[in-house]
Amino acid sequence: MDLKVFITTGESTCGECGEELGRRAWITLVEDKGALCLSCADLDYLYFLPAGDAALTRRSRKYSKLSAVVLKWSRARKRYERQGLLVEKEALDRAEGESLADAEVRERRREREAARRAELDQQYVRQFAARIRELFPGCPPGVENEIAEHACQKYSGRVGRSAAAKALDERAVELAVTAHVRHVETEYDSLLSMGIERWEARNQVAGRVDRVLARWEMKGN
Ligand SMILES: [Zn+2]
Repeated sequence: MDLKVFITTGESTCGECGEELGRRAWITLVEDKGALCLSCADLDYLYFLPAGDAALTRRSRKYSKLSAVVLKWSRARKRYERQGLLVEKEALDRAEGESLADAEVRERRREREAARRAELDQQYVRQFAARIRELFPGCPPGVENEIAEHACQKYSGRVGRSAAAKALDERAVELAVTAHVRHVETEYDSLLSMGIERWEARNQVAGRVDRVLARWEMKGN
């Protein structure tokens, strides 16, 4: 089941965290709450694959436990138009791996990675990663960089972009690490993709998340 993410035209505010998202924010629509930022919707972990490569898109969707179609309203055509797909990084890597014989695919991957890197504030990523290592010394080597990069992505509403995270607030770092653990170390994404409500899915994986975090908080892991 594909979830839908909309790129807004007007101003919007997240119905859960209350953050002003501004124009052209990436949101999901949820009954009773209206717009939700991708962070609150737990979709901020997904990678954006722009439309245009049908084979890569098809493969990425197939391998991704959770995926979302990104839509933008076209004033001219008066309809939503597909901009691409949000998929899990592992799924994108695997799909790209299968297509790597194709030189064009390789080139596009390089471009996409370069664009993503250029958007990141590298110094901030390093600080965020160091803070993760400090708070979670048992975190597997390298994982702190992955989490920090995700947290610093410029998608609207991502944890790392909030004022609290800018100050490398302990709570903000914990949120970013918790989100990572939930997505990578539990079956949370599969539950969401089955249409299970977020609160229910979170309840189901809460014990496992707590156990992983407790391990990462200890040194010498
Ligand atoms: Zn929010």
